[in-house]
Amino acid sequence: MSNEYLSIEERLGLNSYIIDKEPHIKVNYEICKNCVEKPCTYVCPARLYTVDEYGNVHFNYEGCLECGTCRIACPHGAVDWNYPKGGKGIHYQFS
Ligand code: SF4
Repeated sequence: MSNEYLSIEERLGLNSYIIDKEPHIKVNYEICKNCVEKPCTYVCPARLYTVDEYGNVHFNYEGCLECGTCRIACPHGAVDWNYPKGGKGIHYQFS
């Protein structure tokens, strides 16, 4: 199978995940309320952070690529980040 002409969304769809009941990323939404920049909403390559019409941040750890970008990008320390345990998390099929 050639991945040469696949879109980003199609490539992400090739990944598989073993979802852990315990999120490996926990977001402190109280801190997010006072964050003006909200960089998590545009740095996450999997687009897992969103903002609703009231300015509240929402996050879903399922589909996380485990790149760690959100942990580094958050200027207020609102992202508690740990690798998934016990073989959970993302499994890349084509490296
Ligand atoms: Fe998105 Fe990477 Fe953070 Fe996962 S670790 S939520 S893919 S920025």
